[in-house]
Amino acid sequence: MPAKKFICPDGQEIEITRCLQKCPYSQRCMFLPTLRAVAASLNRNIKQPTVTELLAGTMETFLRRTTDYVVDPIKQLYALHGTAVHTINENHIDKTMLSEQRLSDDITSGKFDLFGKILDKENTLGDYKITSSYKLMKALGYYKVDVPTDEIYKTGSKKGQPKTRKEWRTDGVKHLLDWAVQLNYYRILLEERGYTVSRMEIQAMCRDFNLRMAAERNITSPIYLIHINKISDHWVKLYMKTKAKRLQKALKTGKTPHICSGKERWQDRKCKDYCAVAESCPYGRQFKQVAIKIA
Ligand code: SF4
Ligand code: SF4
Repeated sequence: MPAKKFICPDGQEIEITRCLQKCPYSQRCMFLPTLRAVAASLNRNIKQPTVTELLAGTMETFLRRTTDYVVDPIKQLYALHGTAVHTINENHIDKTMLSEQRLSDDITSGKFDLFGKILDKENTLGDYKITSSYKLMKALGYYKVDVPTDEIYKTGSKKGQPKTRKEWRTDGVKHLLDWAVQLNYYRILLEERGYTVSRMEIQAMCRDFNLRMAAERNITSPIYLIHINKISDHWVKLYMKTKAKRLQKALKTGKTPHICSGKERWQDRKCKDYCAVAESCPYGRQFKQVAIKIA
């Protein structure tokens, strides 16, 4: 079932169709075409579970497909930025490139962003991401270490101990498994059709680059190219097949025991603030109640 209602800025819920026909407030909370674009982005009629749906938690995808849920249009705007970037680039591809084609197999389907000579002479599979400086810092493997200085604390509880300063390192673990699985699946789908994929790259744009926080996370450019390594076809297929089977079972039986994993639910941040189906989810509902009690 689709997203049925919007949440207005004052917390009231309204059927999306009613909102689009006529806003009952004295002024709309955003331009009508933007609201229409948000509504269109929510309810895409794709029967087979997509790569993106399978990468999300089974509980989340199951509930998004089976319950009517309420969406805050403001929280959808970042997703819309992503669509806008696709559209801008779409008008500038040439005949050495393919873009935005949906491919499928017996497990899932996925629409890759770009493929072809997009960086140089090699056939590169590319994906656009618009993301936060925090996610970029993690994806790039940036971390801070304490480096000793020549100075010593002269007073306080650390008196006599050497002083340290923080220094950035860029050789940490790159936290980008979801992006890597997604691109590798598109790679497999292309290769199954006879294409040779020489490289996989993500073009990640930082949406909060102008904030001080981004600099504090060592994000010094609004755009990064992030190389994605090849993962074995066997592993990628097995992973996605397992997720697809779980989802199919949930859809068939009308329930699932698979609460999203800690990573899938962003260590609970998603459940608290960003999951549209949290109120229908046993885990998310519990959170909402805790949040209300605290308030
Ligand atoms: S335009 Fe905004 S305020 Fe008006 S009904 Fe729609 S969501 Fe609510
Ligand atoms: S509330 Fe959390 S656990 Fe439940 S579906 Fe949403 S992300 Fe998953």
